[in-house]
Amino acid sequence: MKTLVKTERGVTDLKLMDIEKPVCPDNGVLIKVDTAAICGSDIHYYTDKEPMPVPQIMGHEFCGRIVEKGKDVTGWEVGDFVLSRVPTYPCGECVACRDGHPEKCTSIRIAGLTAPGAYAEYIVSYPDLLYLKPENISPEVGACTEPTTVVYHALKRFGVNPGDTCVVVGLGAIGLLTIKLLKIFGAGEIIAVGRNSALGKKKELALKYGANVFINAQDRKASEQILEYTKGYKVNLAIDCTGTIDAIEDLFGIICYKGTLGALGVPPTGELVKVDWNALVWGSINIITTFGSEKSDYDAVVELFREGKLDFDDMISHKIRLEDWAEIFKNPRNPEYTKAVFKFTE
Ligand SMILES: [Zn+2]
Ligand SMILES: [Zn+2]
Repeated sequence: MKTLVKTERGVTDLKLMDIEKPVCPDNGVLIKVDTAAICGSDIHYYTDKEPMPVPQIMGHEFCGRIVEKGKDVTGWEVGDFVLSRVPTYPCGECVACRDGHPEKCTSIRIAGLTAPGAYAEYIVSYPDLLYLKPENISPEVGACTEPTTVVYHALKRFGVNPGDTCVVVGLGAIGLLTIKLLKIFGAGEIIAVGRNSALGKKKELALKYGANVFINAQDRKASEQILEYTKGYKVNLAIDCTGTIDAIEDLFGIICYKGTLGALGVPPTGELVKVDWNALVWGSINIITTFGSEKSDYDAVVELFREGKLDFDDMISHKIRLEDWAEIFKNPRNPEYTKAVFKFTE
């Protein structure tokens, strides 16, 4: 089968490789991948900003059709078109695993990072990770279920109250999904912050998805412009989707008493944020971080898809073949790029 593999550390070209297709385990299913989405973290693995063990087939966001099922699998049939949580492989031997908490395994292997991923024609998944793709969403949106659950999980952790004034900094796919889900969570005013690169499609989608205003932080601090816009009122929730230190530090001054800074963007390893701790304590300000998502987040997101309350087909800016990977990986700053997917249809 055709796969896309990171073979070396450093910024080296990804390799198209023909590899034997995986064997369907007795307790799993073999999925013919229809769509695999490119995640911001995949681009960080490619540029080596985030180290990734090599060689490995990349990709963890996908959907496709079951083409084989193991003899112990019930409830799923060959032909089912499924969304899947990211397959993970706990070691079974560490303290957490032996205590019955495989999700906390200290050496867990994750598809697309430390186990074979979805930039491949076939991938193995397991019954309790699967959801039938709702008819009303496209496979491209279905492949983006995982990042959507990450945002859903984040908003649950941050605690959005109806009517809250919110700021979203960074208008990549995660920022745009944050705006969309903030509306569903009942947020009030939403202020979207981007830079010059957001002036085209990103700004347009941010406003379409529910932001009341777009602020360009290219040449002037976002905080100044936000306080101008709110006539000096501070906001309830400021969410960073950039992982950029300057952007994060700029947010502390605009959060109201008992308000929250939600940290969704991941800064490069080892970079430190400088905080005015005194102001933070006087302001009773919460800093809430978040990472990943859980089964309950998938249940909720798939339900939103099913009910027709959540769709973002217009955010899929690129549908490409595996061989055209460089179009996105070598040019992630393309202002017209919001979310790209690989298609495997012949
Ligand atoms: Zn992802
Ligand atoms: Zn373990």
